[in-house]
Amino acid sequence: MSVTKKNSKKTFHIDESDLLCKNGCGYYGNPAWQGFCSKCYREVYQKAKQAQVQHDALQKAKRLAGLGDSPPSFSKFEEKKTQQTNKRSHTVKSIFKRPLQKESSPDQLATRKKEVRRASLESQQVGGEFAEFLQTLKKPVALDVSKRVRNLNERIHNLTDYSIEELSEMVQDFYQSMSDQFHGTPLYSSCTAETTEQLMDYIEKFIMTTLYRLVFCSPHTNDEEKDLTIQARIRSFHWVNPQMLDMSIAEHEPAVRQLVDQAITDIIEMNSKRAPQDKLACLVKCSKHIFEVLRASKDSPASADEFLPALIYIVLKANPPLLQSNIQYITRFSNPSRLMSGEAGYYFTNLCCAVAFIENIAADSLSLNQVEFERYMSGEATPPSRGNEYMCEGMRLMYENLQRLTEMQKRHDKVMAEAMQLQRDVEEFKENFKQEIQNVLERNPLTIKPRKVKVEIDEVSEETHKLPPPLVPIQSQVSAQVALVSLTEQQQQQPPPPPQESLPEQPQINSLPSPSLLYNTDSPIDANFLEPTQLP
Ligand SMILES: [Zn+2]
Repeated sequence: MSVTKKNSKKTFHIDESDLLCKNGCGYYGNPAWQGFCSKCYREVYQKAKQAQVQHDALQKAKRLAGLGDSPPSFSKFEEKKTQQTNKRSHTVKSIFKRPLQKESSPDQLATRKKEVRRASLESQQVGGEFAEFLQTLKKPVALDVSKRVRNLNERIHNLTDYSIEELSEMVQDFYQSMSDQFHGTPLYSSCTAETTEQLMDYIEKFIMTTLYRLVFCSPHTNDEEKDLTIQARIRSFHWVNPQMLDMSIAEHEPAVRQLVDQAITDIIEMNSKRAPQDKLACLVKCSKHIFEVLRASKDSPASADEFLPALIYIVLKANPPLLQSNIQYITRFSNPSRLMSGEAGYYFTNLCCAVAFIENIAADSLSLNQVEFERYMSGEATPPSRGNEYMCEGMRLMYENLQRLTEMQKRHDKVMAEAMQLQRDVEEFKENFKQEIQNVLERNPLTIKPRKVKVEIDEVSEETHKLPPPLVPIQSQVSAQVALVSLTEQQQQQPPPPPQESLPEQPQINSLPSPSLLYNTDSPIDANFLEPTQLP
């Protein structure tokens, strides 16, 4: 478990083997467990604890026997634990958060329990989901699980004085006992491996969401102090660029920059989650974005060797809130199987290595000489720019905004041009329409005809006289003509008729019109002409 930087090769060197438990069990180790995996650490820890108990008993016996003290030889585990328990934290949080000491009166105890046990909104939600999942299981299984979980909750909330290690141990023991139950008792034999895995996830999420406020960044630990230390340290390394970590990130590319921002957001988001698996999921998401950053920066798949320096860079850029508290919380309360193997375990171990590296950064770890390093640290000088990155976040934002404004201007111009075109089209259409109507009016002028009046069929009026004569068959017409001729002859012998009734000139009989002409009603013939009274 070490991060070494071989200056000769100028590469960060971290083998898969460096991440593994130093006991050689094959699982991932962790600096928080002194390089062991959680399983081996617990074994070693328990052995040390037993040895301490025996040692104490021996000392006591010797004292009673008056044999005097031998120099004490505390195990480092127990020493650490005592330090943490006795630590009186003077950090901000401890002022607001009352340390949990033995209450003097039962009333106070009851009040405290009530305070702690008031379920938060998150707890209620997770509890609801857990209950829903339990309903899908067989009744005896659901009952057994809920009984065990409730039992653990009761036990933890009834504790009045405890160290965070004791709580962690209780929770870890619980995970272990549940796992043993799942694999060894007939009650759970009906559950598939997938179901028990899901069940374990729900249990972990539920327990840790309800215990979160009690155990995260607890005032019984020095987590907050560590948080402040690492935060200040990360801030002091704001000048570190990718080249110093022996890698290159094409940060001037907007796409890469966006991925970097996403990775930073992911790792910051870790602090907002409650359940260890949700925190780990944020870390996994961040790590995947880092791999994408590396791939996009050089157009080829990234190797695991390049991952750690990139993760260090992202942590330096993000300065995630309560980083140490989050790491400690996951280490203490996550289901150990999550951290010992698999994707989340790998990335988490890398994160621990990154933090360990940041804690120990020195001039040579960044390929700088001591003088340079100190000048950068003191702010006397800034590293020379390579020209392919924006040295200042403000400038980067400004360029981004300028680019965005240019794009918006273009779009605005386009919209305006289209609007003008539309206006021209509308006007043209109006003109054409007017013209078209004008043309139609010219072609067919509008004339107003008089209103039609209803006419009685038998009515005699001036108009009636203007009507054409009725049609007469040809035979009778001819005889009528003959009669007419004789009449004319008589008239020639008689004195002429009164001048007011002048008959039109009659056609001669020998020059009768053809039959078709006889039907011609166009010629104005007086209606009186054929009146029967005048016929012989
Ligand atoms: Zn191990």
